[in-house]
Amino acid sequence: MAEIALQQCISVDCGATLGIDEDRFSCPRCGSLLDVRYDWSKARIPVSLSFFDERAAAATGRRSPVDSSGVWRFRELLPFAPADQLVTIGEGRTLFQGADALAATQGVPAERLFLQYEGFNPSGSFKDNGMAAAFTMAKRLGRRRVACASTGNTSASMAMFARLTTAMDGEPMRAVVFVGGGKIAMGKLAQALDHGAITLQIDGDFDACMNLVREAAERLGLYLMNSVNPFRLEGQKTIMYRVLQELNWTPPDWIVVPGGNLGNCSAFGKTFSELKELGLIDRIPRLAVIQAEGANPFYALVERQGVKFSAGRYDASVVENYFSRRRREGRAAKTVATAIEIAQPVNLPKALRSLEVMNGVVRQVSDEEILDGKAMVGAFGFGCEPASGASVAGWKRLVEEGVISRGDRVVCILTGHALKDPDVTIGYHGEMDGHQVARTLANRPIRCPADVDRIEKIIGK
Ligand SMILES: *Cc1c(COP(=O)(O)O)cnc(C)c1O
Ligand SMILES: [Zn+2]
Repeated sequence: MAEIALQQCISVDCGATLGIDEDRFSCPRCGSLLDVRYDWSKARIPVSLSFFDERAAAATGRRSPVDSSGVWRFRELLPFAPADQLVTIGEGRTLFQGADALAATQGVPAERLFLQYEGFNPSGSFKDNGMAAAFTMAKRLGRRRVACASTGNTSASMAMFARLTTAMDGEPMRAVVFVGGGKIAMGKLAQALDHGAITLQIDGDFDACMNLVREAAERLGLYLMNSVNPFRLEGQKTIMYRVLQELNWTPPDWIVVPGGNLGNCSAFGKTFSELKELGLIDRIPRLAVIQAEGANPFYALVERQGVKFSAGRYDASVVENYFSRRRREGRAAKTVATAIEIAQPVNLPKALRSLEVMNGVVRQVSDEEILDGKAMVGAFGFGCEPASGASVAGWKRLVEEGVISRGDRVVCILTGHALKDPDVTIGYHGEMDGHQVARTLANRPIRCPADVDRIEKIIGK
């Protein structure tokens, strides 16, 4: 396999290459991010994407775990490890839903809006797709201890995978989680604890944890599971394969996704540039990355300061000045959508590249819009966590702006499960009547005596 896959620095002025077994997570020559690259001429690429339909139809979970994994059933398109070495816990068996009722609230016709529920992964978020790939590498490298900084879902996913994966020597893997003080949804923290992760609550925000875990990983020999690990993004490419498969391999007009550390949007751009390069699709959808107003560095840099990837380059000095000014001002990221409460996204250059590949836009939405977006998914679909509500809020905003037209086929990616952060949901709906509630779709519980006549008054005949 070694000759098919390698790692390459994303900077076109450097382009240094490394073997896939070197776990450095940044270019040793210039410090840029690394990509996983394939020599497709040595891989066995199907002639048409419909190849994957037969496999999906034939696979049953327990008898063929690799074929029924929503990640590994596309393994020809991420060929960095042989089939008998792939780690899977049943990730990527997600749901794709037509959302006609939700679409109708914005005057959008039927068969135009779709929701991709990544919250139906085993640990309840899309992170499982990336973990399947990154744990495959950890195992191959003989590593036993894995670590991540997390706003919650990365740690939940990593902790679950660690418990269900044995290292090369047959011992269980050990998970070490770095979470920032007080910034984690209860459901997510509960998962890390339940799955036995060593959980370190660090004084500081996510960005501080991220810097710390990178240093700790290097000094203490922990395998890093954040999305700077390029194998994470290989796993996350498969979200797009599943969306395409649901649409009979016809690309939609738009993909809308929330942006925090910008791993997903980076992976999606890579998906489409590779599929185009391989001649497996003829059109690339547009990308909309949605950030929270209180955690909007990508929006500020792209839409306000005009930072842009062009022919492999972008103006890094504008980016550096922006972040050093923010640090001087001591401004912290703050949003109800804790999964995207990130001030300094590690994948920023790759995300810029995705915007170029997918002719993308970035928008910011308020916490109020995020909560209404989330409530709409609850009211008309299977529900989602706050950060995922940003997708729907962003779609709504872009339809109002006319950037997305009402005839466009749009897929909103819902990144996490509704039960991750019930405190926010309860708060939105208002705990009890008498409570002041301003939210558009609030559905308050009604205090009621144990009396059928009174119940009839409330619910009607
Ligand atoms: C991690 C996460 C995000 C952010 O994704 P990035 O790839 O870091 O941009 C969004 N929503 C949820 C639920 C998450 O867990
Ligand atoms: Zn480099």
